[in-house]
Amino acid sequence: MAKDLPFSCDCGTVRGRLIGMSPKVGNHLECYCYDCQAFAHFTGQADKVLDEQGGTQIVQTTAGRLAVDQGVDKLAVVQLGEGQLMRWYASCCGTPVVNTMGKSWVNFNGVLVSPLQDAADGTPKGDVLGPTRGRGFTKSAKGGEAAVGKMTGLPRMMRKVLGGILKGLVTGEAKRSPLFDPDTKQPVAAPKVLSTDERAKLQEKVLAL
Ligand SMILES: [Zn+2]
Ligand SMILES: [Zn+2]
Repeated sequence: MAKDLPFSCDCGTVRGRLIGMSPKVGNHLECYCYDCQAFAHFTGQADKVLDEQGGTQIVQTTAGRLAVDQGVDKLAVVQLGEGQLMRWYASCCGTPVVNTMGKSWVNFNGVLVSPLQDAADGTPKGDVLGPTRGRGFTKSAKGGEAAVGKMTGLPRMMRKVLGGILKGLVTGEAKRSPLFDPDTKQPVAAPKVLSTDERAKLQEKVLAL
């Protein structure tokens, strides 16, 4: 049965919900890509967000399922380079929250599982999201494929992402995203684009043991 999952940044300023989640609705996966690891280091929360192999748990879903009830003005967004994913975090305490494409019409959110909480009726978030159904970019995991196995779940991931985008074109769901202004189509916070130097410094942290 579908349930809402609340989320909160560490200090409680930014709060919201993922609406009507179930294992079918979301695509729960683990991403080991360098950029997800770099984002965790950028926010200063690598210890909390990344597992021992550098994996980030993410649930991919559509833009309209994210609601921000409080502290939307405290959300900040970084891009690791020009044209890259928009990676949103709470500027109050650094908690990473969600990744979006850079365009408002793209009906896609990659929500970090770490700030999600259990459902109001006590159902653990892991039960609402279901088990992870894929592992992305395992070559860049710490220890590589030997540690975490080969990349899996790519067809499902592509189906989910493309399905959401197509659905969004028909229904206009992406306009409900709290992260983009529906009129100007601009993100609600001005993206900070990292310089090559800043990016390289993060990469050093990612590659450090
Ligand atoms: Zn906070
Ligand atoms: Zn990633």
